[in-house]
Amino acid sequence: MAKISINIKSGTIESEGIIVGIDLGTTNSIVAMVDAESGKPKVIGTGDDVLVPSVIHIAEGGIPIVGETARRALVSHPHSTIFSVKRLLGRSYKDIANHSDFYSYRILDEDDGKLVKIAAGDHFFTPIELSAEILTTLKRKAEAYLGKTVSRAVITVPAYFNDSQRQATRDAGKLAGLDVLRIINEPTAASLAYGIGLDPNEMKTVVVYDLGGGTFDVSILRIEDGVFEVLSTRGDTYLGGDDFDREIVQYWAKNLTLDMKSWSQADVQSIRLKAEEAKRFVCTANLKYSDSVILHGNNLQLELEFANFEEITRRLMQKTMDCLQSALTDSALGLDDIDEVVLVGGSTRMPMVKQRIADIFGHNKVNDTLDPDQVVALGAAVEADILAGNRKDILLLDVTPLSLGIETLGGLMDVMIPRNTKIPAKFVKQYTTSVDGQVKMGISIYQGERELVEENRKLGEFILTDIPAMPAGLPKIEVRFLINADGILTVEAQELRSGVQQQVQIKPQYGLTDADVEKMLMDSLTHAKHDVELRMLVEAKTEAEQMCYTVTRFLDKNKSLLTDEEVLKTKELVKMLNKSIPEGDKNAILSGVDALNTYTRPFAERLMNQAVSGALKGTKIN
Ligand code: ADP
Ligand code: MG
Repeated sequence: MAKISINIKSGTIESEGIIVGIDLGTTNSIVAMVDAESGKPKVIGTGDDVLVPSVIHIAEGGIPIVGETARRALVSHPHSTIFSVKRLLGRSYKDIANHSDFYSYRILDEDDGKLVKIAAGDHFFTPIELSAEILTTLKRKAEAYLGKTVSRAVITVPAYFNDSQRQATRDAGKLAGLDVLRIINEPTAASLAYGIGLDPNEMKTVVVYDLGGGTFDVSILRIEDGVFEVLSTRGDTYLGGDDFDREIVQYWAKNLTLDMKSWSQADVQSIRLKAEEAKRFVCTANLKYSDSVILHGNNLQLELEFANFEEITRRLMQKTMDCLQSALTDSALGLDDIDEVVLVGGSTRMPMVKQRIADIFGHNKVNDTLDPDQVVALGAAVEADILAGNRKDILLLDVTPLSLGIETLGGLMDVMIPRNTKIPAKFVKQYTTSVDGQVKMGISIYQGERELVEENRKLGEFILTDIPAMPAGLPKIEVRFLINADGILTVEAQELRSGVQQQVQIKPQYGLTDADVEKMLMDSLTHAKHDVELRMLVEAKTEAEQMCYTVTRFLDKNKSLLTDEEVLKTKELVKMLNKSIPEGDKNAILSGVDALNTYTRPFAERLMNQAVSGALKGTKIN
């Protein structure tokens, strides 16, 4: 179903305009579209012109130049030439502090918590602005090819990109004058490029192994009824082709006893580029690489054989294999459950990658017929075509990387959306007040796997105000978590009796690093037992406190309905329970709760006081 629109002024029919697919990569970016005639996706450009290096050189007067020219400026102007900006997108200085020596340009570190800024000469740029420059270049490229304006796009991001990074990508698109119709995961796009998932009757489980220039990730997707679900994803944002290049540089430095500390940035960049050239050479031809160059005033003879290369990068290869194993473990699948493996990223051209993958899964499962640099862009174009209404609607489902929840009494994390939940998703839960006449309720939203919120990451908070004063336990406060298809979370709270409501869209200032996510998951495993015990104690204490409060209040109000003996006995039980709380013996607290509960239950029944029995039962929140 194609759409048309009519220009009312001119009376002419205009097509809605093409939607392009964009792979905004760490090293290279590509724009693609589905050819109207053949219905097949194709990249825009020919030969070397397809890949636009994701490099921005800030020329005189602060003018940004993108692409191959900028890439060459890495050698001549390392301080004003920015590469790997994708790694900085949606990140704060704190997130990248450990890797700051990786960048030859200056990253401002004035404020830990804020999004980073980059300095080039007298000019300052945000990663969003710089990414927008790359997107603008791609947009113009598509426009030059098509001879008309391009204003709508699908942009891909790694599956592990968090909210902040996705939002930043979207903002970059907006800044480039593109209406970003959808942000989709790179592994999903890569599968689509191979046509996996286009047949609604097929069910498949796919491993996507993506080794690019600077990043590595592996994702396991399940595709069923035309629905893509990320079962698990693992990776390393500081592992890619560049690291393989660096091993070569170190190998040369060792063999030729080079002391590169005294080298200029330009010489360092030059030898890196030589290393990359050598890598590609030995990976493609079964020949020895040999070249002589003058660097740092010395005439150097640079040599490399494939066997050396394989040897010095064995450790890096193993790292990717370990990630693959972890992703499989996370997904709880065995090798036999995997139907297809898709290779993505220029670095999967290294023969050892294909070899190791084929050894594990078998040659027949490996999809490598498409150009590994192009698959993501091609898939983005397929998705763009689906959104344009040219294909049967196909849903794309992703998962939340970490659990999302709110803080409840005692600082406990009450999980609303567990980790690995498919999105878009909506979850609703009812809470109530814990104090009589409570008119406000704070809702704090956290992300993480630990039982106590303080161990997790706070995403935001808001206060639901104007709750009509009611006895504790009576208000019905509904908290709703909504995650849209882009992974953006909105939290709403509403008091149902009065209809009062409040909502907040969670846009974190900065994201979690991959290492953070991994650490949070690891911590939750190592602390799991301790956490569970602690949680049970905190829960017992909270319950006891609630019980004492409710019963005391009940006594104050309804003394006349009880005998003196009953009042005395109740007070005694409350006193004992209150005393046991700080002592921290969970079982003692629980038996105190039990005793008090058993003794007072008949009063509540006798009274038929709904408010009180409600307060005894309901879940409470601050
Ligand atoms: P990204 O997704 O990070 O933008 P790409 O998928 O474009 O990256 O991959 C770029 C990486 O692929 C670079 O490190 C480059 O050296 C590497 N690469 C490209 N071609 C080859 C090849 N023939 N052999 C080995 N590595 C290659
Ligand atoms: Mg890529």
